[in-house]
Amino acid sequence: MSGNELRFQAICQVTDREKLPPKVPSRLEELWAIDVFTLSKMQACLPKDVFKSLKSTIQTGGKLDVSVASIAAAAMKDWAISKGALYYAHVFYPMTNFTAEKHDGFISVQGDGSAITEFTGKVLVQGEPDGSSFPNGGIRSTFEARGYTAWDVTSPAYVMETDNGATLCIPTVFISWTGEALDKKTPLLRSNAAMSNAATRLLKLLGHTEVAPLNSSCGAEQEYFLVDAHFAHSRPDLLLTGRTLFGQPAAKGQQFDDHYFGAIPERVQVFMQDVEERMYRLGIPAKTRHNEVAPGQFELAPFFEAANVASDHQQMTMTILKNTAKKHGFICLLHEKPFAGINGSGKHVNWSVGNATQGNLLDPGDTPHKNLQFLLFCGAVIRGVHKYGSLLRAVVATASNDHRLGANEAPPAIISVYLGTQLEDVFDQIKQGEVKSCAHAGVMNLGLPTLPEFPKDPGDRNRTSPFAFTGNRFEFRAVGSNQSVSGPLVAMNTILTDSLTWIADQLEAEFAKGTTLEAAAYTILKAVMEDHGAVVFGGNGYCQEWHRMAVEERGLPNLPTTADALPILQEKYIEELFEKTGVLSATELKSRFEVYAEQYIQVIEMEAKLVISLAKTVIYPVAFRYLSELSGSIANLKQIGIELEKESAEKVAVLTQFMSDAVSKLADALGKHDFSTIQDHMQYCAKTCGP
Ligand code: ADP
Ligand code: MG
Repeated sequence: MSGNELRFQAICQVTDREKLPPKVPSRLEELWAIDVFTLSKMQACLPKDVFKSLKSTIQTGGKLDVSVASIAAAAMKDWAISKGALYYAHVFYPMTNFTAEKHDGFISVQGDGSAITEFTGKVLVQGEPDGSSFPNGGIRSTFEARGYTAWDVTSPAYVMETDNGATLCIPTVFISWTGEALDKKTPLLRSNAAMSNAATRLLKLLGHTEVAPLNSSCGAEQEYFLVDAHFAHSRPDLLLTGRTLFGQPAAKGQQFDDHYFGAIPERVQVFMQDVEERMYRLGIPAKTRHNEVAPGQFELAPFFEAANVASDHQQMTMTILKNTAKKHGFICLLHEKPFAGINGSGKHVNWSVGNATQGNLLDPGDTPHKNLQFLLFCGAVIRGVHKYGSLLRAVVATASNDHRLGANEAPPAIISVYLGTQLEDVFDQIKQGEVKSCAHAGVMNLGLPTLPEFPKDPGDRNRTSPFAFTGNRFEFRAVGSNQSVSGPLVAMNTILTDSLTWIADQLEAEFAKGTTLEAAAYTILKAVMEDHGAVVFGGNGYCQEWHRMAVEERGLPNLPTTADALPILQEKYIEELFEKTGVLSATELKSRFEVYAEQYIQVIEMEAKLVISLAKTVIYPVAFRYLSELSGSIANLKQIGIELEKESAEKVAVLTQFMSDAVSKLADALGKHDFSTIQDHMQYCAKTCGP
């Protein structure tokens, strides 16, 4: 069937589509976390001392007692069985951006042939999936298969329902037999612990006697596209690679600016409500939904949570979006750039750090210029982003995200920090040596007698900045829509750890000289601004002049492609950063580089192969058929004295030849295999086969 026929069929099917039967909406209390083994459910079914011990492990990160795990396992099993589960799964997050799970039954067959359910503390705490087929970046050979999953008590277990039953899911870390992290969760937990230690040390130096463990928080805004499944199924490129490799721009793209925040189409809203119901049941706090800039593009944002839980929930959200879309006759595209010519999708990662005793440490309050603690934490971020900007670029480097970064719809590949006018002014004053004042928020008078005056934020927004301060958190905007948020969170926590440690060292040295806290803090902040202030930029990040100025005058790196950015992971100073903070060993870091480099090459090569095959099997046959039809009509027309169509036949022939040449060139390029290093191979892909 030709493309046109497929499209026509799709139009008929969409027109005749039967709506899903409407659901009676439930109240939030009836939905919220009903599929989660929450603390309150544990409290209701566990002996008091067991619950206390488990709660302390969850909240303060103490060691998990084996006897506690056994009692917790029995209670967890009873709860899961009451919800119809026959199986449990250790869920983990390998280095693929996807979620992996190994399912096992609760069944245990007895000597007399009867079967009972069984779930011990040992199997709750530790699983042993074969690790050999997951990317490991050379840490393991195929014959060295043993890998372990271990229960992450800080992320709650839940039941995932499918049409025919339910499965108890246990979030876990995934490590090799030799103890190396093979996943994205382990470094996230380590980076959080490292940040907590460094922040505690600094807070104590600032005079706090009681400091609760610190946690990083994350609220990730997920952008996505919905395409009716009938249309998507006529596009092998969309189904296989998540983006269109051929096509022409639609006459109506996003030029009317009429989609962003427009009224949500009813069919989409029904889908969103279904997604939100599933999220609420799983304890994921969906909070915001709206149309995005491009036609068919939407956004979903949850309320922020502890980074580790937010990261697990983000993975679940991506799965829920994709699965629910199918039920509603859509395909949900999470690719960063499904269609050329209109905006792609990102995932803004909002991040802050705080604890129960000091609150959010990135909250400036009303008088930021007097809030030394805030200024030191914010200064730590500025220093970190300047020193390790290339790392931040590397952790968002994927073949698909390269299409987006720097394309005037997403932040450039140059990493800078936006502080907003008020804070930028405060830090400028610090650099000059004296802080006198700070611009205030003020009120906005709308000049309309019926509307009250309303408070105005102290700074505007700047959507062109890759790393922006947004009132009480930083928003990392360069993250791709398809990515796990763990890598970016690990990078932010780790560079903050490094800066907080440096600041604490400086403070101790100043105190030893007898300097007061206030004078010492300003001296340190002044040094931060002198050495790292070049990363602060409040202007238009899309403009070419900034790209020139950033590189030539400020010395900021511009790493346009993944092939340029990923090798940063091999630099000595990055290895030292991860080793000294205890987040990743040199072996683990190296393996990550290998895995991500491999993935980059594979994506580009797969797309190139598909281009060749689509050209040969879908486009040529149509072009040749059309050419022969044209020559027939030309001959007929000629008989009655009309020569007009000759030119079109020539055009089609020339274009077909052009395509044939380009495809042969691409096929030749793909045939090259003799690369001396993986970096060379990546550069070759970036320049020859992609994007
Ligand atoms: P935007 O206006 O930038 O599109 P959204 O409301 O879509 O903002 O998303 C903002 C995200 O930031 C939400 O997930 C929100 O919960 C999260 N957020 C708010 N405060 C914090 C914080 N202190 N730390 C981390 N994330 C936060
Ligand atoms: Mg948003």
